[in-house]
Amino acid sequence: MKIAMIGSGYVGLVSGVCFADFGHQVVCVDKDPARIDALLRGEIPIFEPGLDDLVADNVRNRRLSFTTDLAEAVAEAEVVFIAVGTPSRRGDGFADLSYIYAAARDIAKAIKGYTVVVTKSTVPVGTGDEVERIVAETRPDAEFAVCSNPEFLREGAAIDDFKRPDRIIVGVSDPRAREVMSEVYRPLNLNQPPLYFVDRRSAELIKYAANSFLATKVTFINEIADLCEKVGANVQDVARGMGMDNRIGSKFLHAGPGFGGSCFPKDTLALVKTAQDHDAPLRIVEAVVAVNDRRKRAMAKRIIAACGGSVRGKTVALLGLAFKLNTDDMRDAPSISIVTALDDAGANVRAYDPKAMDQARRIMPGVTFCDDAYDCVTGADALAIVTEWDEFRALDLPRIKSLMAAANLIDLRNIYRPADARRFGFSYSSIGRP
Ligand code: NAD
Repeated sequence: MKIAMIGSGYVGLVSGVCFADFGHQVVCVDKDPARIDALLRGEIPIFEPGLDDLVADNVRNRRLSFTTDLAEAVAEAEVVFIAVGTPSRRGDGFADLSYIYAAARDIAKAIKGYTVVVTKSTVPVGTGDEVERIVAETRPDAEFAVCSNPEFLREGAAIDDFKRPDRIIVGVSDPRAREVMSEVYRPLNLNQPPLYFVDRRSAELIKYAANSFLATKVTFINEIADLCEKVGANVQDVARGMGMDNRIGSKFLHAGPGFGGSCFPKDTLALVKTAQDHDAPLRIVEAVVAVNDRRKRAMAKRIIAACGGSVRGKTVALLGLAFKLNTDDMRDAPSISIVTALDDAGANVRAYDPKAMDQARRIMPGVTFCDDAYDCVTGADALAIVTEWDEFRALDLPRIKSLMAAANLIDLRNIYRPADARRFGFSYSSIGRP
């Protein structure tokens, strides 16, 4: 099938290359010429494991190409995916749909023949109706259908998630569009992922409900971690004990510095706003948003407390800046709140992240960026592990201690055993463990 992917960010690029890898003919479009130029030179503008090789293979096989020319890509396509950003709108937290609607207008102008327009971006319930209205109004003669096909991939494991999804949700009412969507995903038949057809509004809501539920699970275990600290229990044991129950499951029960990233923060906020607008407030999700915001700020307080109550003039080393491992995505990362609060408290902040430093430099002007973990901790009064990258899991702790001015280790991801850290002479604190 001929597919145009509008937006070549984390979702558009991964979805586009995976569709090409299935054998479809894919053109990835972006309005950012620098991004397209980079892709044409064979440079991948984001870090996602395995993406560079997969892109190179599919470009070589001539199944994948890149352009800024949306009109040409859409005119050739049978299916057009919209994978542009839907960030939080400033002020009220609702999803900013201006990129979606602008793309819909441009797509409408270029459609030739029957075309299925698919929103892959995460969009509030009812957005598909508006996209349909825009296309019909812009091009009353166009033959088209609008579907919702929300994406559930996780950054850091995006290719595997896309190729081996738990389910594929398609919101569609037009029978011809349903056939087209079945054909788009037919190459996945071998793996037999359930292709679940629902109405468009339900598909849109499934994505928000799923993300908000996962965010709730994370926030729940974070609050249990706080309780563990007060009562002398171990949150890792509690989480493991809970997760052994099949009704609960062990995933998303890792206590830490609060959720961040490009999805949970903005999607929980947007769902809260949608629910309020429809007079069906989601009080649980409202609490999740508030608790998580407070938690991210509270992480800096832990670091300050570990330094004896003040960091003025002291040096704090942060290992990990990305919102989670295996990505360079800094959007709403907990490290941002931590750096801001440490900065306000007068600390000198040094930081190292294996992949996210280019992104971080743009938003953390006061931070000294280092070459590796050992360079980062040199002269520091405290070391905080913020992201659980593999390379931080087996640090040479005696060497770390010898490089630091004071041996304070704040492990916000619980990757070390308290007894080990103390054995090597650290004053150690972690999340929800005695
Ligand atoms: P992104 O910011 O990485 O990429 C969006 C891209 O769209 C940008 O490169 C931008 O230049 C381009 N763009 C915007 N308007 C355009 C237009 N009119 N024509 C061509 N290109 C245009 O965003 P992302 O992280 O890929 O997210 C995209 C959507 O997918 C969002 O709605 C997000 O919530 C959703 N989503 C993201 C993830 C994730 O892990 N990042 C997972 C699932 C769903």
